Amino acid sequence: MEIVTIPILKDNYAFVLVDRSRQQATVFDPGASAPVAAWLSENNLELINIWITHHHRDHIGGIEDLLRRYPTAIVSGGANDRGRIPKQHKYLNEGDRLTFADQTAQVFFIPGHTLGHIAYYFPPTDNQPGELFCGDTIFGGGCGRLFEGTPAQMLGSIDRLRQLPDSTRMWCSHEYTLNNLRFALTIEPYNIDLQNRYHKAGINRSNSQPTIPSTIGLERQTNPFLRWDIPAVGLAVASNNFVETFARLRGRKEQF
Ligand code: ZN
Ligand code: FE
Repeated sequence: MEIVTIPILKDNYAFVLVDRSRQQATVFDPGASAPVAAWLSENNLELINIWITHHHRDHIGGIEDLLRRYPTAIVSGGANDRGRIPKQHKYLNEGDRLTFADQTAQVFFIPGHTLGHIAYYFPPTDNQPGELFCGDTIFGGGCGRLFEGTPAQMLGSIDRLRQLPDSTRMWCSHEYTLNNLRFALTIEPYNIDLQNRYHKAGINRSNSQPTIPSTIGLERQTNPFLRWDIPAVGLAVASNNFVETFARLRGRKEQF
């Protein structure tokens, strides 16, 4: 599967799935239309799907303009976001499936950042890793803020995602990695994998390269918000209860 990262707005990413044989494209979370439309027309692709993870403006702001250019594109998003995503055609629930370029994505219902948040997951095939589009749930080295959900909900959603194979590539919607890793180092200063990742991410960013995609394996090793059950993490926030550990991490991050 060809996946293209398009930086939009201040620090968002829109991702485009490309089917060169049919000259078609699917876009995730177009918070702005112009950079996406420019890339599609340069590459002679017709947009046929707009797939949305959640209703926030920085993920949906480009939908209406893209539909003016590509009026037959189908807008899909979570069923719980009904009324909050412009021109939504399809209302997705846990377990629904969507197909593009002969590959099928599964829908995961993952409330926490918002109560209608969903992820799209392409399971691995013989020759490619799985692909996870998780919006603002897990970020590189961090996680989304709890705007609508509770710590327990977010922990449950992240727990599902962290059980995907380590090789799963994770496409999250913001470039927050470097700052997240700075925070992570305050929690686990002696985590060598985290130190190495921070070093590499710094080089990436100083060359204006995205740090995305990450992988589930790397997040499990270095992201404190997937590590509530690691003793050193619980100790860092003086808790031996997983939900409380997670909530305290989130609280500390707000202050950071
Ligand atoms: Zn959001
Ligand atoms: Fe966002």
